[in-house]
Amino acid sequence: MARYAGSVCRICRRENLKLYLKGDRCYSDKCAFDRRSYPPGEHGQRRGRKISDYGIQLREKQKVKRMFGLSEKQFKLFFMRADRQKGVTGTNLLIALERRLDNIVYRLGFVNSRSQGRHLVRHNHFVINGKKVDIPSYLVKVGDVIEVREKSRKIQAISDSMDGVVRRGIPQWLELEKENMKGVVKNFPAREDLTMPIQEQLIVELYSK
Ligand code: SF4
Repeated sequence: MARYAGSVCRICRRENLKLYLKGDRCYSDKCAFDRRSYPPGEHGQRRGRKISDYGIQLREKQKVKRMFGLSEKQFKLFFMRADRQKGVTGTNLLIALERRLDNIVYRLGFVNSRSQGRHLVRHNHFVINGKKVDIPSYLVKVGDVIEVREKSRKIQAISDSMDGVVRRGIPQWLELEKENMKGVVKNFPAREDLTMPIQEQLIVELYSK
């Protein structure tokens, strides 16, 4: 399935949640969700629409898929892998998504959105344990050291993003050495560390049909 190419702010309005897809704009008064927090489209402001159980499950899956900027196929693969692992499938899924390199560089504040992370990872601006990695879906491991490459440290988008890192905060399962543009994966997040409002059991129910 082709990647969504429309206005990303419509996605937040559709999912009724700020998904922080546009970097600094999301924290400004230009945020479209803050201005119009109702679904986009002609009938967006219609009240009292009944949604089926299937509709609720589908929306939850769409929300998480779009939050991480994945295609349907990529998301389904993540789900299938999570389902094969031991433990709770929904939690496994969220942890695996968090371990993606494009998400990690975003969480560490090297970039201001996951889509920018994907772009800069593909262009080889990061190293893991001293080795170049240009695969956004690469899953980091505990102990991995992620750094901005020496020659990429002056890139404006990266330094701008690092200036805003204090505002966004770093999750406790990661450690950032801001001055060295380096981060370490201390451990994988526990479910309670993932604070975005996600009801992952709805996704599990959807795919179990
Ligand atoms: Fe979503 Fe950011 Fe657009 Fe606000 S500015 S609607 S948080 S993508």
